[in-house]
Amino acid sequence: MQIILPEKIRSIISVLNHGGYSAHAVGGCVRDMLMGNQPQDWDITTSARPEQVKRLFKITFDTGLKHGTVTVNFAGQLCEITTWRTDLCYSNHRHPEQVRFTDSLEADLARRDFTINAMAFHPDEGITDPFGGMEDIGKKRIRSVGDPAGRFNEDALRMLRAIRFSAQLGFDIEEPTYDAIKDLHGDIAYISFERIRTELDKILSSVHPEKLALIWDTRLSDHIFPGIPAFPESCVKACHSPYTGKGQVFILSSLFFGAFNKDRDKHAETLLRRLKYDNRTISGVKKVLWAAETLKTPSLRNIRLASHLYGAIASEMAANILALGGSWHNKGIFATNLSQIAEQQRLLISGADLIGRGIGEGREIGAILSLLHLCIHEKPQLNDPEILLMLSEELHGKLHRHNLL
Ligand code: ATP
Ligand code: MG
Repeated sequence: MQIILPEKIRSIISVLNHGGYSAHAVGGCVRDMLMGNQPQDWDITTSARPEQVKRLFKITFDTGLKHGTVTVNFAGQLCEITTWRTDLCYSNHRHPEQVRFTDSLEADLARRDFTINAMAFHPDEGITDPFGGMEDIGKKRIRSVGDPAGRFNEDALRMLRAIRFSAQLGFDIEEPTYDAIKDLHGDIAYISFERIRTELDKILSSVHPEKLALIWDTRLSDHIFPGIPAFPESCVKACHSPYTGKGQVFILSSLFFGAFNKDRDKHAETLLRRLKYDNRTISGVKKVLWAAETLKTPSLRNIRLASHLYGAIASEMAANILALGGSWHNKGIFATNLSQIAEQQRLLISGADLIGRGIGEGREIGAILSLLHLCIHEKPQLNDPEILLMLSEELHGKLHRHNLL
């Protein structure tokens, strides 16, 4: 695999090298490049201390001096440069309070969470991969650097990160690593809900949101989603659904829809607030759950009502969740989108049919058709050509007599 670093990242590395320091691209960007994906951001690991880095570049920001990180703006390219370090003093199973700078690249790679994240790259030296990260990319597996239990003990968030990477990359978590998550799942309680939510969001918006199931399989769910003892079938289906509006709100709504039989909106609000979700997501999920209540009985009337009260997007999501649950299949309706449903509820006679039968003329036709529309919104069974023609004759006669047309 040929790795070509962007010009400006090469220049940053070269500035550090010319300053007498070692410097490599590291972590997620190396992993992504090896997999042929575009890295989201660029991290550099260096033997230079933060103050030495700051002396070499004009524009720098002290993003995490305590952890050895300086952000550099090099000709518009932002890049985090972190001094080689080992982590010390993990207190309370969280990320380290204190770090110690080291003089070895390998020691820096050893503090990283998974083998696929513990590789470095230099344009002249190639890949540094002391823990078999390349092999694990080939085998599509997530494996802890070193003893998994020890590593999760240091920082419990890594358990959820393993699931997150598995969802983003479509990899499996290798057995000893996975077993350690199952053993230590309770430690996730040491991690703040904000950090948990960040990982959760990455899972929900990944290409494999169905990996959410691992949260229940490992029992991390005991802490993250108390009151939802099993991963609901509706959510499994939502994760696999081809529905194009899939996303956090859709999947979370399907989760609460399947997990609870009543007061779904209240349960959703409580759990999402606890996870520090923003108001927009919470109200989005509640609207979908309310729309689902309205749409349980599928009729154009209810679709109109739900769209009016909760908006077309929430209604469409609700219709899809109901369709996945089978509630709508009985009616022969599969909700891929609301306009399709509306189309299926189109009147089965036209103005031409009325004219052909000598029922009404001109404007009268339009008035009769709109009354027939109202009838089928209320009672879809009336949408039958014979019944509709009968109703038209009746309506035309009566309304004409009373001068109402
Ligand atoms: P992303 O594409 O989401 O940015 P990433 O691998 O770059 O993925 P980051 O969270 O940005 O992930 O972290 C950058 C690197 O820092 C990781 O690749 C990993 O080497 C290391 N790292 C981050 N968080 C941890 C952690 N909790 N424990 C150990 N190493 C970590
Ligand atoms: Mg990153």
